[in-house]
Amino acid sequence: MTVAPKVFRDLASQPEAVNELLRELSKSAEVHHAWLFTGPPGSGRSELAFAFAAALVCENNGCGECNNCQMVRVGNHPDVQVLNTERVQISIGEVTEFIDRSLQMPALAKYRVMVIEDADRMSERTSNLLLKSLEEPPRGTIWMLCAPSEADLLPTIRSRVRRIMLKVPSVESVAQLLIDKYEVEKNLAHQSAAQAQSHVGMARRLATNAAARQRRSQTLEAVLGIVDLPSAMKASEILLKLAEHDGEQLTKELDEQEREELLARLGVSEDSKLTPSARSQIKKLEEAQKRRGTRSKRDGLDRIFVDLMGLYRDVLAVQLGTNQALINPDLEPAIRSLAGDISQAQAIHSIEKIQQVRNRMDRNVRDSLLLDALAVSLRRKRRR
Ligand SMILES: [Zn+2]
Repeated sequence: MTVAPKVFRDLASQPEAVNELLRELSKSAEVHHAWLFTGPPGSGRSELAFAFAAALVCENNGCGECNNCQMVRVGNHPDVQVLNTERVQISIGEVTEFIDRSLQMPALAKYRVMVIEDADRMSERTSNLLLKSLEEPPRGTIWMLCAPSEADLLPTIRSRVRRIMLKVPSVESVAQLLIDKYEVEKNLAHQSAAQAQSHVGMARRLATNAAARQRRSQTLEAVLGIVDLPSAMKASEILLKLAEHDGEQLTKELDEQEREELLARLGVSEDSKLTPSARSQIKKLEEAQKRRGTRSKRDGLDRIFVDLMGLYRDVLAVQLGTNQALINPDLEPAIRSLAGDISQAQAIHSIEKIQQVRNRMDRNVRDSLLLDALAVSLRRKRRR
């Protein structure tokens, strides 16, 4: 295989997927018009889609340095359009508008690339709108869908796309990425990669944000404190607050920046008397930000589930006497104690239950009820 162009450099932990795309790029025939990138959260599926997009619009197969490559990297290439919803579900309006854009001719490049991140957030009706476009896009239009797994999409969509599967990257390769790209110190990089269980974004946040590390410790402390019903309810309350706080921190900066940009575009300041049109635009932004707030809380909860699964994986590892390194070596005494208090079957059941609640979170079930049920199921005998 030839050396991968620079735009694929950060995807060294996914050699099979990258090689398949390189083969496609080196063909003389037209590039296939619809792709699906699947992989667990944090495996880099969107990054791979954007690297492929850059390789398509760059005149040099993705040199990483030309104007085209740079515009893709900062997200403002006119021929690489992205649907990145902040909602829990992609709306029909968003997809309709996106399909309209796919019909336009490329502005600069040979191709027009349409990327849908979180394609699993489409309802059946919304997905059906896409079918025809995926099957017969105008010449030069390339669709790229990203989702956690194939099962998250309708079979009719799956049958119309070429699939590229990403694997969970190794802890080693995630740690190396933190060291090389974010200049994280070696020990912290390894610890963060292990704790995030190879989720790249989560590992980066832990490695670069002390407050995030502290919230993680509080999460695990809360769960280790569950012995009976009252302590379970208390833990559930703490987890929900931590998730909300985590989500808030994630969106706060973004909200402020967007508001400043909008005010600047409208030519007004916070204290100006607003015209009805300016007021309505600000209100629209606030509504969109509020919807994103709901989703960011879910992302905060998701982080918590990853932490909890790591904790119970450690418990099970201790019970089974495997010599595998713990995800949470700093909590070893508490983990050993919990491992002695519950049976192996209970540890396995807890991992399954956490996974189940994590999956249900995407549907419209009230978060606090799900968390309560989870916390109650994690009770153990009161230690004497
Ligand atoms: Zn380039």
